[in-house]
Amino acid sequence: MDLSTNYDKWVEVDIDAVRNNLAQVQTLLDDHVRLIAVVKANAYGHGLVQVAQILHQQGVDYFAVSYLQEALELREAGIEASILVFCPVINDTEVQMAIEKEITLTVTSRQDWERIERNSARLNRKAIVHIKVDTGLGRFGVQSDQAEEIARQVQESKHAYLEGMYTHMAHATNQKYTRMQFRRFMKLLQGMERDKIHIPLRHCANSPVLLNFPEMQLDAVRIGTLISGQHPAGRFSRHLELEDPYAFKTRIISVRSLPAGSYLGYYRTHRLKQDARVAVLPVGFIDGMALEVANRPSGWIDLMKIQLKMLLAYLNIPRFSLQVEYRGQAYPVRGKVFMQMTLVEFPVDSLVAVGDEVTVPIRKTLASPSVSRLYVQKGEAGKISAENGARYIDTSYL
Ligand SMILES: *Cc1c(COP(=O)(O)O)cnc(C)c1O
Repeated sequence: MDLSTNYDKWVEVDIDAVRNNLAQVQTLLDDHVRLIAVVKANAYGHGLVQVAQILHQQGVDYFAVSYLQEALELREAGIEASILVFCPVINDTEVQMAIEKEITLTVTSRQDWERIERNSARLNRKAIVHIKVDTGLGRFGVQSDQAEEIARQVQESKHAYLEGMYTHMAHATNQKYTRMQFRRFMKLLQGMERDKIHIPLRHCANSPVLLNFPEMQLDAVRIGTLISGQHPAGRFSRHLELEDPYAFKTRIISVRSLPAGSYLGYYRTHRLKQDARVAVLPVGFIDGMALEVANRPSGWIDLMKIQLKMLLAYLNIPRFSLQVEYRGQAYPVRGKVFMQMTLVEFPVDSLVAVGDEVTVPIRKTLASPSVSRLYVQKGEAGKISAENGARYIDTSYL
């Protein structure tokens, strides 16, 4: 048995669900709009290389990631499609690696462009470049009024191919702000067209923008969330039939009967109201269990919502408390989640046993990349691709 693979916990990824989500996204695309599949953050937790392979087999020919390291991993696995890196690459050696591997680089400043040009000149190879414009997100990008000048330099340089220009929307559920960002971007693009700066791929739409503003597709869209099976947070005019490909599973490592009145866990935060079977799962907050992404509440209403959810969780209202799924039914997590373990209450007459499979509510983006991903089709371990060195997980034990 391969000890590097942990069979006590694993993430199941449904290949058919990924394909379904891709097909659903494609129904929204206008003719000739290219899909750039965003597979950053380990493909939103589903496995970078494997998800890219699934999508590539379905015809996706452009990928995007945040960091060069992720792009190199895709190349290493034999993915020959285009790959755009969103973040600036700030180190000369890495820029050269990107150019050699034909990875598309983002220019977010004059320095970025100088660094790319210097290194492509050194290698005597053309860099593929997209220019990122900041129209109101406040993250990366050249200001709109400097973009044309940099674009002209890239276009005139014999060391680069200016393939694209893009911007990123800050608040896609807000009509006014999104339209303002779009107007800024369009104004810039129109100015460049007048001045004969040709840009084949102009793009600004992520998942929520595609749903709410289909007229903003331009030449390409950058989609991650929808392919990973989730509707973005907020209200949208369009809805897709998405399937969540992801399930975090584990096996019970201990079950005992405990009498009513027993305390469960540190600080004795839960006391059994009735006799019960208490199971231990080998997952804890180290695996992402009971962790949430914390951000400053966006306003009073958001703050109240968060407080209300906590209150409902405190009152053990099932939908707001942590629950696991066992044979299609929900059971409550009890007590504080431990570093590497979790307690679950089952009815006293339950047949639950050590080794039984349980699905746990660990967010896909918080599930550690070191947890094995198992790719399944209709419940069977599925083959992703015979070539390209995909790693298969030995399922004989399961
Ligand atoms: C993450 C990201 C996307 C994808 O956004 P989704 O809403 O997940 O589809 C697109 N563009 C950029 C620049 C991103 O960082």
